[in-house]
Amino acid sequence: MLQLVDVVKDNLLKENMQLEVLYTIAKKADCPVNYLRLDIEKDVIDAEFGKCANFFCLYFDENTARYSYDLVRKIKSVNPSSNVCGVGYFATYAYKKILEECQEIDYIIMGEFEEPVLSMVRDFEAGKEIKYSEYLYCIVSQKDASNKKINRLDLKNYPKVLDRILLNKNKKIRIASVEGSRGCIGNCTFCAMNYRDDIKDVNWTGRDIKDILNEMIAVYEKYKIKVFLFADSAIEMAGEKGKIRLEQLCDLIIKSGYKFSIICNMRASGFKGWSDRLFEKIKLAGVSEILVGIESVNRDDQKLYNKSISKELIKKVIDQLNKNEIEYQIGFIFF
Ligand code: SF4
Repeated sequence: MLQLVDVVKDNLLKENMQLEVLYTIAKKADCPVNYLRLDIEKDVIDAEFGKCANFFCLYFDENTARYSYDLVRKIKSVNPSSNVCGVGYFATYAYKKILEECQEIDYIIMGEFEEPVLSMVRDFEAGKEIKYSEYLYCIVSQKDASNKKINRLDLKNYPKVLDRILLNKNKKIRIASVEGSRGCIGNCTFCAMNYRDDIKDVNWTGRDIKDILNEMIAVYEKYKIKVFLFADSAIEMAGEKGKIRLEQLCDLIIKSGYKFSIICNMRASGFKGWSDRLFEKIKLAGVSEILVGIESVNRDDQKLYNKSISKELIKKVIDQLNKNEIEYQIGFIFF
């Protein structure tokens, strides 16, 4: 059985979309799967792992990694022949350090991990040796940490995620996450989104906009939730095409007649070239709050962060958000 483990801090009521996607894909493929969400304050110490799960997939986070190490050791002490892999942005970024600090971890899967994990579990269950050749594009291990490639999920195969672990468990949650894209073209020097410690790999993949709306409607029908948090690093990406895609998504939502409320992220520079109509349209589609990443208005800082945002653009964005009564938070980076 595949055991997914999400280790969280402060019991943040936030869905882990990537693990939920893997959970959905595994279920669709009839792979026995279980999902554990462990709070570092309450659950990690008491967590018990029987022998029924033999393939573990832990989502690594910079705030919780050391707790994950303890879990991995616990898993291996109960079931030494189990396979343990680490996944997620932080695991991709800091794979060398993680493999060094926790010798009990078998593999780190770099980049998007849904398909590789499933393939590995299938081979493992079939008694086949996990051979690097089949997963060469994305795996590093204690034996070989020299892999230079990371995996990207083909978002055309992105499933409708209805098994919402957090929403199933906690009926009080009134916000659902939705993923409309992965990656980022922002390329900010301080961000781990597109980096491994020695490789930079800028990439962005958008999901079909009809699929995004269908998932929102399906989540609404199942959980009666109307507020959606877009997990995307920025809701609008990839230049002119990004604006067209966003406008089309807004049109679809407006035409559907559903009254959703949307919270999302934007890079300040992503607003370049926005028409007044696009600001009005996102409001009509239900965008109620945006976290706007400005990072800095100081030219030297901007250069350091690989950003270029003029004060005029920032002023225009703030004016338009105020005019359209869209709430906003501003993100700055202070070192
Ligand atoms: S825009 Fe945001 S997500 Fe993208 S690289 Fe910059 S900080 Fe990271």
